[in-house]
Amino acid sequence: MTVRRKPGTARAGTKNRGTATRPARKGSGPRCGLCGKAGKLMRTECCEQWICDDEDTYVIFSYARNSCSRNHRRYTLCGYHSVEEHSGDWRECQQCRKDIETEMYVYYGTNDYNFVKLENPPSYEPTRCKKCGAVIRLAEDAYTMKGAGYYCERCSPVPW
Ligand SMILES: [Zn+2]
Ligand SMILES: [Zn+2]
Ligand SMILES: [Zn+2]
Ligand SMILES: [Zn+2]
Repeated sequence: MTVRRKPGTARAGTKNRGTATRPARKGSGPRCGLCGKAGKLMRTECCEQWICDDEDTYVIFSYARNSCSRNHRRYTLCGYHSVEEHSGDWRECQQCRKDIETEMYVYYGTNDYNFVKLENPPSYEPTRCKKCGAVIRLAEDAYTMKGAGYYCERCSPVPW
């Protein structure tokens, strides 16, 4: 009895030791501090960090969040603080703290549009739907405000 090995299987395994695409560490040119891209960059007005100069890609009223510079300016305390022309460091700014609802304050201070995140964000009670009591994450969920109350998507009146 002869054991016959299938021929032709021995050719596998040309070791492909990682593609050598890593650039040879030359001139660590500036990269966007948020997404890491090294394209068209600018410095943020608020904190002088490199960021994608991509605001012109934003489609007005689209609410898309694909512009680094816009995201940083609109959705962070750093940006807000600067736009509102407060003084001092945003992390210590009482004005910001007072102006912005705690839940949003924490979101603005800790989301991924920040270069530096708020170290000790204050705690807050979750926002609840006034009608059904469901927790509403103000930064992510759809909701409506009526008077002083928040209404979750399900309990919101259908817009005509
Ligand atoms: Zn970017
Ligand atoms: Zn900034
Ligand atoms: Zn401020
Ligand atoms: Zn509800």
